[in-house]
Amino acid sequence: MSAVEPSAAPGAADGGRGSLTAPFWEAAAAGTLVRPVCRRCGNNFFTPTWCCPRCQSEEWSYEPSSGRGTVYSHTTVHRGPGAEWAVPYVLGIVDLEEGWSMLSRLVVDPPDDREPGVLIGTDVRVSFEREPRPPGRMLPVFSPRKAGS
Ligand SMILES: [Zn+2]
Repeated sequence: MSAVEPSAAPGAADGGRGSLTAPFWEAAAAGTLVRPVCRRCGNNFFTPTWCCPRCQSEEWSYEPSSGRGTVYSHTTVHRGPGAEWAVPYVLGIVDLEEGWSMLSRLVVDPPDDREPGVLIGTDVRVSFEREPRPPGRMLPVFSPRKAGS
């Protein structure tokens, strides 16, 4: 997949609600994790914002990620954002190998309480699961990976 440009301006086609992140969700639907990369300073950042948080340049594009990373921290969620979300589940911050981070669900078994921090440093890889409520987007989730994968 090649770089994807964010939509031109805040408030363009959809009143500003989704134009910034639409390319992210389109890539996710196609099974690719992307993140903003600044063309001026090379910063990888997430979540998407209209300008680079390091140099304030608006010249950035979505670039594909390897989807490989390491768990920075995690917690177990027992009360989700809605009844559609099966609990408990593990939520973690993943450091991606390109130098950016994202908050996501960690697919581990069992998804219940465990020793605090036991997953820190675990090598993980992205996959995608359908959001359990409308609009049913494909959400990135991370699973432990074997060495070399
Ligand atoms: Zn920058």
